[in-house]
Amino acid sequence: MWNYNFAIPGFMVVAVLFLYFIKTPRLNIRLNRSFLELLALEVLTVAVDYTATRADEHYEAFAPSWLFFLNAAYFALYLARAFWYFRISWDVLHLKKENTPNVLLYWGVFALSELIVISSFFTGAVFRIGETGYQRGPLYAVIYLCWIYYLVVSVALLRIYSDRLNRYELVGGMAYNAILLVGNVVRYLMPKYLIMNTFCLLAILVIYLTFAVPERHLANRRIAFNMRAFREALDDTVGEKPYRVLAFALQDYIDTREIYGGTQMDHGVDMVARFLTQAFPECQVFYLRSGYFALLGAETMPWEKMRDMINERFQSPWSASDAELYLAAAFVTVSSRGKLDTPDKVTNNLVSGLARAAQAVDGLIDLDGELELDRQTEVKRSLEFALEQGRVDVFLQPLVDSKTYRITGAEVLARIRDAEGNIIPPSLFIPIAEKNGKINLMGERVFELTCRFIHDNDMEALGLSWLNVNLSPIQCMRSDLSSRFLDILNEYGVSPQSIRLEITEQAVVDIPLLERQIETLRDNGFRFSLDDYGSGYSNLNRVKHYPFVNIKLDMEVVWDYFRDRDHLLPNIVHAFKEMGYTVTAEGIESGEMAEVMASIGCDYLQGFYFSKPLSTDAFIRKYAKGSVP
Ligand code: C2E
Ligand code: MG
Ligand code: MG
Repeated sequence: MWNYNFAIPGFMVVAVLFLYFIKTPRLNIRLNRSFLELLALEVLTVAVDYTATRADEHYEAFAPSWLFFLNAAYFALYLARAFWYFRISWDVLHLKKENTPNVLLYWGVFALSELIVISSFFTGAVFRIGETGYQRGPLYAVIYLCWIYYLVVSVALLRIYSDRLNRYELVGGMAYNAILLVGNVVRYLMPKYLIMNTFCLLAILVIYLTFAVPERHLANRRIAFNMRAFREALDDTVGEKPYRVLAFALQDYIDTREIYGGTQMDHGVDMVARFLTQAFPECQVFYLRSGYFALLGAETMPWEKMRDMINERFQSPWSASDAELYLAAAFVTVSSRGKLDTPDKVTNNLVSGLARAAQAVDGLIDLDGELELDRQTEVKRSLEFALEQGRVDVFLQPLVDSKTYRITGAEVLARIRDAEGNIIPPSLFIPIAEKNGKINLMGERVFELTCRFIHDNDMEALGLSWLNVNLSPIQCMRSDLSSRFLDILNEYGVSPQSIRLEITEQAVVDIPLLERQIETLRDNGFRFSLDDYGSGYSNLNRVKHYPFVNIKLDMEVVWDYFRDRDHLLPNIVHAFKEMGYTVTAEGIESGEMAEVMASIGCDYLQGFYFSKPLSTDAFIRKYAKGSVP
């Protein structure tokens, strides 16, 4: 009474397609992964459909639990198919999670339908196994509703995002959804024919020919992927996961092609592509066009070593059929660390980079570095502007007594802004200022703003015993540093006792001039903190050499302690206290961190838990009444 005429040939065709798709070089993108899953699902569904139907025919020979299991498996797979075809539409349109208003709309209907199928064991909702074997249940229509839902959503998405497809693709997309709809209708009208599988096979063929045929992504001779594949692979990668591209151009490609002739040169290109696929199996290899190759891989790929390997191979000739080709390569690299944030920007910059690469030093252009350079120039300009216009600003971050949680001091942190008025973090502009010497002017400006703040405000009312000012080692190279600072102090009538100078641990090296400067400043009444302790390698002996009164533990050291608590940090704090220093813990971001750092002996705490750095106005507003942070 069942008709299998359609099921068996269909099964064979899908199985062949499945094996073929596994075997051919396939671009590693979401769509291809979903399509492969769909093929596997299809093979499985047809097999289970056939088995379950056979078992239903001979129900007397099977235990009811077996019959239930086989039929449930079939319905589960039948619904999974609806969902997977929908996922194909989703991937074809390059939709991302952000495109769903609600994840439940994405897979919720599928999950609910599956639940109803499985629950049939108790409820008999979709089907049950009775006296005469398999029988439909009252909620049988659920399986059609689930299908209709995903087909309707698919078609709606194809319409909404139709501009992402060309005409041919749009027609293909609509066609397979229409075929699946007809399939469901025919199945409904002719339930005894296992005919849905045939419609699914048709839909798969349409998807295959429109979107998944490997030739679409392969360059001439199926060795490397082509430019379209490169764009689609980037579409799947940029902004989604870390990546790196190492690309190179064959130098003088056009002239070389003239000399060797087109056929020889094509042969040479194939050999290069084959070499790349064999040497770097973890990367996807692309031949973009006229002598341009690209390797796409993980951001951590050892691209410098790979470039050396490629260069080394280019030392020897490429032996084409009856000629030896001597070629050379010029490289470009770009990664997710750079600023290029869309697939188009990556492709365009890469291609223009490849055109310039031959003229570059070392025959290499690092696009990340190049863009980094742009940013540096911008920062440099902002820094100069801020200094000229007196636009350097300072923010204050409280230092808190670890026993009372009352504010006792504050660290002064420099701030400048870029052309759009956004704050540039010191980690960007301080290194630049140190390199071009502007740090002297900038440090002096910060020092002056600090003195002005002390002069203009009632320090006691704010709860402040002193302010910490960062001092760059470069500033200490000026022999007139201390006299300049003293002049500024005098101008504002401020005592050096109200200022503590922070010097980072990395700066504390054996430079006699630095040592002398610090001593002079100390003799003039300044006190010193050792900043970022634990970020460098200074030994305690050297620390002892300098007149510090306070040690600031670097935030990384503090955070490490909370990741993995050992005895090292408490012992270090203990040692410092024995030596007569007070200790400050930086980077305190939670109440627990504050408590623990207090309990191991830190005297002062600094961090976002108490307050972020604040503009002087905001600081005054917040602490005007010496309030507890
Ligand atoms: P620093 O002296 O170690 O300053 C502390 C830095 O840690 C500040 O960053 C502060 O915002 C940040 N910070 C404080 N608490 C927390 C926390 O709980 N969590 C996290 N994640 N961060 C916290 P900022 O202002 O970006 O300053 C960075 C560095 O730039 C400073 O490190 C200092 O070395 C340098 N710097 C800032 N202003 C000046 C200056 O006027 N002169 C010199 N020479 N260097 C300066
Ligand atoms: Mg500091
Ligand atoms: Mg610090």
